[in-house]
Amino acid sequence: MEEKNTNSNKFEFKAEMKQLLNLIVHSLYTNPEVFIRELVSNSSDALNKVRFRRLSEEKILTPEAELNIKISLDKENNIFSIEDTGIGMNKEDLINQLGTIASSGTLKFLEQIKEEKKAIDANMIGQFGVGFYSVYMVTDEIMVETRSADIDSKPYIWTSSGQDTFTIEEGAKEIRGTKISFKIKDDYKQFLEDYTVKNILKKYSNFVDFPVYV
Ligand code: ADP
Repeated sequence: MEEKNTNSNKFEFKAEMKQLLNLIVHSLYTNPEVFIRELVSNSSDALNKVRFRRLSEEKILTPEAELNIKISLDKENNIFSIEDTGIGMNKEDLINQLGTIASSGTLKFLEQIKEEKKAIDANMIGQFGVGFYSVYMVTDEIMVETRSADIDSKPYIWTSSGQDTFTIEEGAKEIRGTKISFKIKDDYKQFLEDYTVKNILKKYSNFVDFPVYV
């Protein structure tokens, strides 16, 4: 990702990321539910990193915060959110980690799918290391509120509609970790149902090492 001009809080996705997002947003999916698995898996990775840092006796922000994952379903406003007390992200992480295509094969693979006009099996999205962006299957805009576990960290808010740009602003989060929230599109309201979400968690995230509260 590159910084856009001198505008301090607006950034532009790299070309290959734009292509990828375009594919995700305009494709059909056979199982969009995997976005939940991808989010839980990212949170779980972030919690593992904190656990590891604690062992090394490094100081961390809000050490008293329990290592857990909380999913909230706001049916009135159609907002799905997931919050962890993991390692969090600083500004550089938001710019360089969150929008990185882990595997160079990903894009070729997705282009091939597009050419063949096949529905994307959403499972593939996770396998190719772009799990976070699978959330754009069910929403038009994502907000990430995060604060790194470094004791001198600052909170940030990242937002993007998954098109060409994303913004980063200072946030107000007091404890370490990451909260991801988004409005669920009308066609996917089943993901705001308690029992549906719990079943998906049972199916994909049963062996997560940390408590997951819904
Ligand atoms: P992958 O998990 O395969 O690396 P993702 O697109 O799902 O790919 O995530 C990209 C990166 O964004 C992660 O590697 C991590 O650095 C960061 N990230 C995503 N979610 C979180 C989270 N909940 N807490 C901290 N960092 C995160």
